Amino acid sequence: MSVRLFNTYSRQLEDFRPLDPAGQQVKMYTCGPTVYNHAHIGNFRAYVFEDLLQRHLEARGFVVERVMNLTDVDDKTIRGARAAGRRLADFTQVYKDAFFHDLETLRIKPASHFPAATEPRYIERMIAMIGQLEAQGIAYQAEDRSVYFRLAKFPDYGKLAHLNLDELRPSGRVNSDEYEKENIGDFALWKAWNEADGEVRWESPWGPGRPGWHIECSAMATALLGPELDIHCGGVDNIFPHHEAEIAQSECCTGRKFVRHWLHCAHLMVEGQKMSKSLGNFYTLRDLLEKGFTGREVRYALLTVNYRLPLNFTIAGLEGARAALGRIDEWVARIADCSAPVSASAELPAELAERMPAFFAALDDDLNISGAMGQLFDLIRESNSALDHGKLTPAQAAALLADWQRLDRVLAFQRESAAVPAAVAALLEQRQQARAAKDWAASDRLRDEVAALGWVVKDTKDGPKLSPAAA
Ligand SMILES: [Zn+2]
Repeated sequence: MSVRLFNTYSRQLEDFRPLDPAGQQVKMYTCGPTVYNHAHIGNFRAYVFEDLLQRHLEARGFVVERVMNLTDVDDKTIRGARAAGRRLADFTQVYKDAFFHDLETLRIKPASHFPAATEPRYIERMIAMIGQLEAQGIAYQAEDRSVYFRLAKFPDYGKLAHLNLDELRPSGRVNSDEYEKENIGDFALWKAWNEADGEVRWESPWGPGRPGWHIECSAMATALLGPELDIHCGGVDNIFPHHEAEIAQSECCTGRKFVRHWLHCAHLMVEGQKMSKSLGNFYTLRDLLEKGFTGREVRYALLTVNYRLPLNFTIAGLEGARAALGRIDEWVARIADCSAPVSASAELPAELAERMPAFFAALDDDLNISGAMGQLFDLIRESNSALDHGKLTPAQAAALLADWQRLDRVLAFQRESAAVPAAVAALLEQRQQARAAKDWAASDRLRDEVAALGWVVKDTKDGPKLSPAAA
């Protein structure tokens, strides 16, 4: 069974195979937030999709090394810091901290690396890459003292976005980090300092200035993951010009194909409209928490729509997420209550047993999460019915609970403080008696039985502490 993913570059479903000859290590780069503001739920849709991708690849045995960068210098951060009358680093730190907090609330696994563009080693690398491009005749310094990428030198520019550059005539130079398709032109690698930048400046062979947004990602990606990446993700908004520029810069510097699989998630709408501050439908995660929703409800609403489909985010949808999670919670509590400790794994009835592989097979199919959730809800319905009819043994309920824990390592939907099931509490009590009698063998055996039910016992000086096995 192989994982198949839609590659934006080829516009085709492709079998996923990492570059690692052993087929195990996966190098994945995901464009992170620009820390001038609190990230909004459109941003988080991309981060939640990337989290699902990472967790599913891990469930399939891959070892994922993931980089998510923090853009802490660009047009927007500089403007924001000036408006706030603060130093750039102080201004962005507030939003970096908030971002990490939000990731935790949404149960997004931390990346292996969170490089920030302004770290000296990355600035040095950006300058070195621009210098190399200049030496190759690909970059040039213009009259405005900024350094630009000469698009004519990279015929593949536009291939990711499937733009025909012969039809869209390049129009001069573009100094802004973001621009429309009509303005295709040589993009800035290094922006010469001007008054609006205030004290934000680094010395370079081209005079004082700062890097362009695109070169930041090329430098951090190749510094941490090497010249070739297995997967690069982002939202569809990133495809042009940002990811096109990343490809052009990186491939001209390394001479290698930068990325094997490009994945992009579709737009998010709110109540059927484009999210905008003027329409009053612009949500950060905080806004939703203030309305009384939890991080896991927002996660559910963002995660359960297939990533290549537009997501219409609504308050009714969040209420639906709450109801769906309630059904899952109720079911998990029920099978936990019915479970008995088992030494040998019990076989599930065939119609239940086939749901697990079908769940993962759906995700293999370009992360078909709606198909996967359909399998989960069928499993819930069928196993509830089996329990109603007394057709599941306690050992089978325990096997089902273990299955749920495997699914939840991908979904991360488990209720925060799941009540301790009676069977687990009883085992813990027996274990305390064994420990009091210094019967360490029995104590260890009982700890394993507790673990088989999905709980971890930790002995502390205040006595044993129980927690659900980590998602
Ligand atoms: Zn990027």
